[in-house]
Amino acid sequence: MSTPPQRPSFPARIDLGQSARPVSRPAPRVVVQPAAAAPAGSMARDPVPARARMVRLLAAEGISDARVLRAMGTVDRHRFVDSALVPQAYEDTALPIGLGQTISKPSVVARMTELLMQGGLRGPDGKLGRVLDIGTGCGYQAVVLAQLASEVYSIERLRDLHEKARSNLRPLRIANVHLILGDGMAGFARGAPYAGIIAAAGGEAVPEAWIEQLAVGGRIVAPVATGAGQQALVVIDKSRQGVQRAVLEAVNFVPLKSGVA
Ligand code: SAH
Repeated sequence: MSTPPQRPSFPARIDLGQSARPVSRPAPRVVVQPAAAAPAGSMARDPVPARARMVRLLAAEGISDARVLRAMGTVDRHRFVDSALVPQAYEDTALPIGLGQTISKPSVVARMTELLMQGGLRGPDGKLGRVLDIGTGCGYQAVVLAQLASEVYSIERLRDLHEKARSNLRPLRIANVHLILGDGMAGFARGAPYAGIIAAAGGEAVPEAWIEQLAVGGRIVAPVATGAGQQALVVIDKSRQGVQRAVLEAVNFVPLKSGVA
């Protein structure tokens, strides 16, 4: 069986489903069993075993980038959810963070982060350069990215969530995450060009502003509507010759909305 070329010919084309071989892996086959819920107090005292178990499941599901697994194993996800949800913090499930929004499932955060690492521009230390994170929410994805990128610009349109992310990040004293209140549909021109752009909210299409603000050699990983209320992950690679898109697996993200509220 012949292998498709790594970089299909330009102009930009849309690969659907199975033909998106260069960046696609088979859908994870491992069924993640819900973790036995740990008592909230014990989790806060010692999140290490639950987090290690989560990382083992991510690896079993096919996340193979050791840096991504290390980052997922480093960040205290339980610090980003309400206290009542702390016992579920290391299960592979999306959880509510208020205002109808959710913190993404760990497997989705890891998958998108790995895709970004595989394609985005990396420096000699193996880290990505500047990254734009659209939809800060509680700030979890931004903090995972902070382990893997030189700078993270994370933008949120809902003031209350932006403030929540600020208070979640304050005790962590992370110097390379910049939280911005604004409409991420316009990207964030001041940090451009970006080595990578990642979005946690899905619209009808990837906004042109994101493609413009992406560095040559950079990658966008974002959910996009594929019709009939469905969404899929889209990967966009920008090269000197143009822009290449690949549509990967189905996902389920909150909608990308315009304006600040
Ligand atoms: N990465 C987040 C996921 C939050 S859910 C986390 O780790 O918790 C997605 C977020 O995208 C929501 O908070 C929603 O308000 C935000 N969002 C939707 N449209 C947006 C836009 N145009 N600009 C910025 N944020 C947006």
